[in-house]
Amino acid sequence: MPVDSPFDDERTEVAVGSGLTDHLHPETLAVHAGGMRTPFGETSEALFLTQGFVYPDMESAERRFAGEDPDGFIYSRFSNPTVAMFEQRMATLDGAEAARATGTGMAAVAAALLGYLKAGDHVITSRVLFGSCAVILGEILPKFGVESTFIDGTRPENWRAALRPNTRAFFIESPANPTTELIDIAETAEIAHEAGAILIVDNALGTPLIQNPLQHGADVVTYSATKHIDGQGRCLGGLVLASEEFIETHLKNYLRHTGPALSPFNAWVLLKGLETLPLRIARQARNARALADALKRLRGVSQVLYPGLPDNPQAAIFKKQMKSGGSVLAFELEGGKEAAFRFGKALELVRISNNFGDAKSLVTHPATTTHQRFSREEREAIGISEGMLRLSAGLEHQGDLINDVVSAVKAAH
Ligand SMILES: *Cc1c(COP(=O)(O)O)cnc(C)c1O
Repeated sequence: MPVDSPFDDERTEVAVGSGLTDHLHPETLAVHAGGMRTPFGETSEALFLTQGFVYPDMESAERRFAGEDPDGFIYSRFSNPTVAMFEQRMATLDGAEAARATGTGMAAVAAALLGYLKAGDHVITSRVLFGSCAVILGEILPKFGVESTFIDGTRPENWRAALRPNTRAFFIESPANPTTELIDIAETAEIAHEAGAILIVDNALGTPLIQNPLQHGADVVTYSATKHIDGQGRCLGGLVLASEEFIETHLKNYLRHTGPALSPFNAWVLLKGLETLPLRIARQARNARALADALKRLRGVSQVLYPGLPDNPQAAIFKKQMKSGGSVLAFELEGGKEAAFRFGKALELVRISNNFGDAKSLVTHPATTTHQRFSREEREAIGISEGMLRLSAGLEHQGDLINDVVSAVKAAH
């Protein structure tokens, strides 16, 4: 095997910018994009479970460390061939110039914020957030001299009103976890750019199949690959997608030297996850929609929130930026926490867990789990009531799922 050419020519066959990707659809790219094949001609992506790489001579090592051999690998904290395949496939799917993988979704969010911001900067964030995102923005960044302002991000005027001369970034989740609230990405990006700030979108609920924030003006996108990209509850992972320039200037050194690297093994699992992502998303979204429709007809259910519902108050934003409502819905039971807990007890198929995007349908009670650390008033302000449940529809048979959820609501009522 030639030492200096670990991959055959197929390495660049389905890569970003090759032109080949322009006419290929997401289902095809999810299977092929970013694939690199060694001279053994393996069908499945190779798993390079290695910490480091050997060099044919000292001169080669010197060139690699000097950055003169950009395709050569140095150390898996910097990059790894299996991880690189995963990054390339995700960048292609999302139409991004570049992607960097991290060990978890939170490592990706932290990298995007800490890599870009510095003491004295100000960030504005929408207030409906995954619990750990709220901790980074509200508690960790301020320790390092970065101030953050939490607003109701659904109203454009709120972003303008919160601007300061030192505002350098906007942060949103859309759809937001757990209420599925939507924010107009293009409109928010425009306000950010007018003020000289960037827009960072946490697209964990969206997935690259449903929503591509970069195409709507966002500058940086983060993912928790733990969710739909794995989709079978096996491993953690995350990604930051942005322009080459952003990654080079703000992320490269941060990631290399603080070390939130994704394990090659997990990258391999996630690559395999991407191959079936379009199939899973389509089926899970159908199940979620069917559950939302069934829940709407039930007594004891005071509210059903699902982006794909025609009477969703944010239907106009949904149409503008999402291709599907996705797998996650939220609903509110009359009777508060007691009713929500009775519902949990009555379920026979849907499992209680705080993950989502899984093949197994999962339900969580945000007020007592992911958002337990917030006060009741803080939760009510962002629409997380004591009776609210977040349900992630899995791959099960639709009839089985509806039967389980409907009987549990009846039992709780
Ligand atoms: C789960 C989640 C994260 C964190 O991802 P991990 O992989 O668990 O670290 C970040 N943002 C959102 C919106 C999430 O749902």
